[in-house]
Amino acid sequence: RLTSVDDVLSLRDEISEIVDLGEILVDFGDFLENGRRLEPAAYCHEWWLLELKEKLNSDCAHYDAHLNKEDLTNVVAALLREKRVPGMKEAIEISRRYDMHLHPAYTYLWEDISAEDRKFLASYIRERGILEQCRECGGALMIPSDENVKAILENLLVPHRIIKKKRFNTLFNVEEREFICIENPAALLECLGISHRNLRESVTPLKTRQKAPTRIGVRMGRPEKAKERKMKPAPHLLFPLGNFGGRNRSLRDAMRNRVIDVEIGVWRCKCGRESLFPRCSCGSHITAEPVKMQKSVNIYEMFKQATEKLGIHVPDVKCVIGLISKKKVAEHIVKGILRAKHNVFVFKDGTIRYDMTNMPLTHFKVEEVEGLDVEKARELGYTRDIFGNPLVSDSQVVELKQQDIIIPVDAAFYLMRVAEFVDDELTHLYGLSPYYNVNRREDLIGKLVIALAPHTSAGILGRIIGFTRASACFAHPFFHAAKRRNCDGDEDSIMLLMDALLNFSVSFLPEKIGGKMDAPLLLIPYINPKEIDKEAHNLSIAYEYPLSFYEATLSRKKPVDVNIPTASERVSERMDAYGFGYTHETSSITAGCLKSAYKRLEKMSEKMDAQLRLAEMLRSVDEREVAEIIIKNHLIRDIKGNLRAFGTQKVRCSQCNAKYRRVPLSGKCKKCGGNLLLTVHASNISKYLHISIQIAHRYEISDALQMLEMLSEDIQSLFQEDNQRSLTDFL
Ligand SMILES: [Zn+2]
Ligand SMILES: [Zn+2]
Ligand SMILES: [Zn+2]
Repeated sequence: RLTSVDDVLSLRDEISEIVDLGEILVDFGDFLENGRRLEPAAYCHEWWLLELKEKLNSDCAHYDAHLNKEDLTNVVAALLREKRVPGMKEAIEISRRYDMHLHPAYTYLWEDISAEDRKFLASYIRERGILEQCRECGGALMIPSDENVKAILENLLVPHRIIKKKRFNTLFNVEEREFICIENPAALLECLGISHRNLRESVTPLKTRQKAPTRIGVRMGRPEKAKERKMKPAPHLLFPLGNFGGRNRSLRDAMRNRVIDVEIGVWRCKCGRESLFPRCSCGSHITAEPVKMQKSVNIYEMFKQATEKLGIHVPDVKCVIGLISKKKVAEHIVKGILRAKHNVFVFKDGTIRYDMTNMPLTHFKVEEVEGLDVEKARELGYTRDIFGNPLVSDSQVVELKQQDIIIPVDAAFYLMRVAEFVDDELTHLYGLSPYYNVNRREDLIGKLVIALAPHTSAGILGRIIGFTRASACFAHPFFHAAKRRNCDGDEDSIMLLMDALLNFSVSFLPEKIGGKMDAPLLLIPYINPKEIDKEAHNLSIAYEYPLSFYEATLSRKKPVDVNIPTASERVSERMDAYGFGYTHETSSITAGCLKSAYKRLEKMSEKMDAQLRLAEMLRSVDEREVAEIIIKNHLIRDIKGNLRAFGTQKVRCSQCNAKYRRVPLSGKCKKCGGNLLLTVHASNISKYLHISIQIAHRYEISDALQMLEMLSEDIQSLFQEDNQRSLTDFL
């Protein structure tokens, strides 16, 4: 039984089968939110402690075992005080004395084997078992190796090993025999009604509760994300180059023409001059609305003047072909030069974004947050821990404030560059003093951001309090919920507040419906918990569930009929923190997998192999079914989709990038005479075909194989070189 990450890592290459995956905690709030009846809970330590406490109150213990009353009472008192897991012998003793269910740590999956198997195992052990005293493990049960017995032990999840023992048959004949060795067999034996002191002696079987009454299947979700937002291709500047910038929308390429003719918004000043930006060269701010027009722009002169004035030289500035807004308002060229200098990229609304997976967090220890220390935490308002004690150590647990966020280390490095860009912009473009002055990533702590969910237009103000190695943004459940209209997604973006205030403009956005989505049109400075999605209100906030709750799960009560405190009780007014509790400690909020195999493995074939290898290893998973689902739901759809895309594709000019729905009769670009290229590559279609056929063969999925072979023929006929015949061939 592997119970630690280190154990798993050191033995992972020797694992041949994973018999059981252990337990999963599901919040009461998930049942409440989904209106689903409670499922029987696995017998757990917390439940056992509550039952023990109740037994003590009713004082029905009978003292006939060999520990005296005083001893056991002391043990029990210590267990309850320290909430400790008892030793096996203690657990058996307590079960017998107080007529309790055996502690879950020593409870096997008795409900997973049949009554016959149970009887068979008991009699096999009675008749053929040997109790051995062992100096290393303090005693073991040895039974002659037997396939059926081993299978039953595996189903029960009784840890055991196979050992070979030499035995003198006669004086000169050494015989080697295989045994199943079970260390610490007392709980197993007493549950089977066998005395752990003498295998031939019977005892009343210990009472047990179900250890795995409810099982749940899981599937892969969206892989984690922490990445700067980049449009494809990624611009530094929202400025139209038409087709002069070539494939890369390169300002440098466009400048070869010196003057380019583009559609752009033009501002007319009272002095009579025209300007591409709202500040006129005469110095006044233009208040009149800009007008969209076709205009010749001396891009060469503009860039030269700007770089000379800035004293900054960048190799290139990536722009856009055309602007999507109604009035075609362009960004000031200085912004693009500065973004290129700091290697940051602009989104369609003028802001610089960083996208991250949402990770809810209600409590943390300072030591879990990179870049944060106790002093800094106190400055940020974390002066007391959850018990109300002054914060003096980085291992005290504190409650996260509702608008504080912990961002990935990688996000911090990107936002540092954004901060430098904003400071440059303030000094060079606006003639103001810098705002962020960021030298180390720690300088970002305490800085404000706007967090925004896709398909929404209301940003939420947040504050950075530190960094994490996880590819996720840790924030309060209220924070994540506030961003969203319904909590349907799991990936949002942040931008530095000053960047959004300076560079966001609604005039960059298209008029069309939906065009103003994913843009910070509104800013919510302070979350009102009453206004957020009720999913976050259903979060359970108890430090401990009562005994009545565990019992309610056994009768599958409705969650509304069970009284567990939830966040909804605390949302009457706005606060920084709401006094939430939690039921289980973690060693570290980033103790989980930091980079999933899906992200670590690059090629699709590697991902498939890894998934199927795991499926084969897991007893609970049918690998053939996994293979079938992958092929039918993903690979075949993908191949068909690519085949359709290939058949209906546009062609593209290799020089000017002009696109044609049909190949012009001349076979050349109508605009510049350049060569035409396909936009969908043939290799895209057959990319997954080979691997799909391989897998279908390996798992003998015949109907999928038929589909794949037909697709394969289609693809071959599409690319056959000599399939065109001349009409004269038929004469
Ligand atoms: Zn031993
Ligand atoms: Zn003017
Ligand atoms: Zn062309």
